[in-house]
Amino acid sequence: MTKKQRALLAVQALKKEYPDAACSLVYRDPLQLLIATRLSAQCTDARVNLVTPGLFARFQNLDDFCAGTQEEIETYIHSCGLYKTKARDILAMCRKLKSDFGGVVPDTIEVLTTLPGVGRKTANLVVGDIYGKPAVVTDTHCIRICGRIGLSEGKDPGKVEKQLRAVLPPQESNRFCHRLVLHGRAVCTARSPKCDECCMKGFCKSAGKAEK
Ligand code: SF4
Repeated sequence: MTKKQRALLAVQALKKEYPDAACSLVYRDPLQLLIATRLSAQCTDARVNLVTPGLFARFQNLDDFCAGTQEEIETYIHSCGLYKTKARDILAMCRKLKSDFGGVVPDTIEVLTTLPGVGRKTANLVVGDIYGKPAVVTDTHCIRICGRIGLSEGKDPGKVEKQLRAVLPPQESNRFCHRLVLHGRAVCTARSPKCDECCMKGFCKSAGKAEK
């Protein structure tokens, strides 16, 4: 079986299992998704979703953030961890968005990654979920599960993204990654994956033998 064939089987199996998968971060507009994703680094989406309502009530738009201070942003995001760096990045990102991009969130990965604190994971999320473009979000679930299935090798997010872009149907890749998150939480967990219950056990290269 080729990698492309295996990828197609994985896309179909997860689509059936999780038909409505979407980003689990709660946001109202592109700026909020950018900020919520920055907050999600080394933090759970559930924690971010607890923090952002207060943050976005105080800072309701780009101008509010640009007029804010790092210290005040820190007070709202303290529980997300790395709060000083995240607050600094959020402020710098907002100011650059305003000064260089007229307040509009860019729609390409190349330009998005020029913003402070925005890496390829965030950029892929934005182009996929906001602009409907092919995207591959290589988070921890994606890297682990795709490695186990046999679609990718290694743990470097950039390299895994490249490998997956080569085998996934572009129009399916964004939602496929959202589905991997759900599958990674429920079935293909980091420790003791539940291969017996898995919808991909028929073609996964690690079925029954992933590390316990
Ligand atoms: S068969 Fe096992 S290792 Fe493979 S994707 Fe399913 S749970 Fe993960």
